[in-house]
Amino acid sequence: MKRGDEAKLKRMVDLLRSGATMLPDVCPICNSPLFKLKSGQIYCPGCDKRVLIVKEGEELSRVTQIQVIAELSSTINQKLMELNEMVKYENDADRLYELGRCLLTWLEIFERVKKLQS
Ligand SMILES: [Zn+2]
Repeated sequence: MKRGDEAKLKRMVDLLRSGATMLPDVCPICNSPLFKLKSGQIYCPGCDKRVLIVKEGEELSRVTQIQVIAELSSTINQKLMELNEMVKYENDADRLYELGRCLLTWLEIFERVKKLQS
């Protein structure tokens, strides 16, 4: 069994223990069974994410959207780390200014993505 599968299985057990119910629907991204939490939220233990189901038919696009946001978030994290490294070793004032502006832009996008995720 892969590491990821083990973590997924553990999450599924935890979900059931917490009173969540397994739904007949599967996640269109990872094919995991979806769970309905006590709070009424739908959760995918495979993606380890909340799944927003607006209405039948729109489900796939909503889930895809969540996936895109998650990927975007990790790309931004990566870029911020790269920029941070560049700033560390840059001595040229103009370049530093440029990098600073760049950082600000990415941070702003990061904030917005975080808002979308919450
Ligand atoms: Zn999933």
